[in-house]
Amino acid sequence: MLCRGTSRVNMNALVATSRNFKQAAKILGLDSKLERSLLIPFREIKVECTIPKDDGTLASFVGFRVQHDNARGPMKGGIRYHPEVDPDEVNALAQLMTWKTAVANIPYGGAKGGIGCAPGELSVSELERLTRVFTQKIHDLIGIHTDVPAPDMGTNPQTMAWILDEYSKFHGYSPAVVTGKPVDLGGSLGRDAATGRGVLFATEALLAEHGKNISDQRFVIQGFGNVGSWAAQLISEGGGKVVAVSDVSGAVKNRSGLDIERLVKHSIENRGIKGFSGGDSIDSNSLLTEECDVLIPAALGGVINRENANDIRAKYIIEAANHPTDPEADEVNILSKKGVLILPDILANSGGVTVSYFEWVQNIQGFMWDEEKVNSELKKYMVKGFKDVKKMCKTHNSDLRMGAFTLGVNRVARATVLRGWEA
Ligand code: GLU
Repeated sequence: MLCRGTSRVNMNALVATSRNFKQAAKILGLDSKLERSLLIPFREIKVECTIPKDDGTLASFVGFRVQHDNARGPMKGGIRYHPEVDPDEVNALAQLMTWKTAVANIPYGGAKGGIGCAPGELSVSELERLTRVFTQKIHDLIGIHTDVPAPDMGTNPQTMAWILDEYSKFHGYSPAVVTGKPVDLGGSLGRDAATGRGVLFATEALLAEHGKNISDQRFVIQGFGNVGSWAAQLISEGGGKVVAVSDVSGAVKNRSGLDIERLVKHSIENRGIKGFSGGDSIDSNSLLTEECDVLIPAALGGVINRENANDIRAKYIIEAANHPTDPEADEVNILSKKGVLILPDILANSGGVTVSYFEWVQNIQGFMWDEEKVNSELKKYMVKGFKDVKKMCKTHNSDLRMGAFTLGVNRVARATVLRGWEA
């Protein structure tokens, strides 16, 4: 999705995530040995994936799966295809999944995977070969009750279908080994929209606390992939005014509100929002500092940093992406001094993994839910997550990010201690 701006002024993702964890551990008064054991990943896998390209030449890629923690259940998290995938980033994202599943209170640990590649430059059959080779290398280490992958940036239900098929050659047909599958292969209704819908529910919960509604707010959304485009559609259906949107191809603005239905159509037909006639095209780098009430970063990490934090004009930031706010923007209090409230990623974007959990439950039970049930259960989980985070904020007199981190870390710490260390 959108690039990270003109210059890299953000911290290494792992340093940033671990810093939030350590701060939460300190607030909770965790024993230093327990803290260390929670931070170190359970297992880190790095594999070489060589495939023949369509023209007959060979291409080699590096794939990763980091399994961070399994104290609360099977490890869970997406697989990302992106040129910037690196071990530290996958590690950070795996750790975030551990705290995220704990905040959502679903019975999982955390993991994340990725392949350093540019999926847009590979043909469908090259992507299929790459996915199958990657699965061959990790099939023994994933499984319904050990580690359950899902889509992330650059991957989609088709990628999950290939993983399921390849995995099944070794272990027999096992639909619950991945989530975010096509509905025809046991995917859940509502999974495609789930992260965006969860963003909507979390935003509603936050706004309601301040006596506000979706319909009286102006939104700016960075990223128009699965998460950003669904969030935009659901917000505009709810009466919210989406005044600016960006993706890798460009950015577009309309002060009276963009016609999101038309924008989605345009983006599918033109592989991006560039050239949309229903608004003025603007510089993607200035999108984050556009005037609005609610800013939703729904693309890459580290995009809000010390360089642009001062210029942010939103009152609320809803972190639909994973770690979009660099700790320096957050921590030297640039944003909090300005009174900007941040709804952190591990709560705001937990709708995706929550419906992944519903999908896994449906697969294991062999019983399919209707979409209404999926959406209403999702709402319950998002509202409960928000309430639980607020409770922690009150207990520890902290902001929403530390409320979420202390909630997640505390739940994982309790499970770890209960399971014990006897060999
Ligand atoms: N990739 C998504 C995330 O970052 C979903 C993970 C899942 O469903 O397991 O939360």
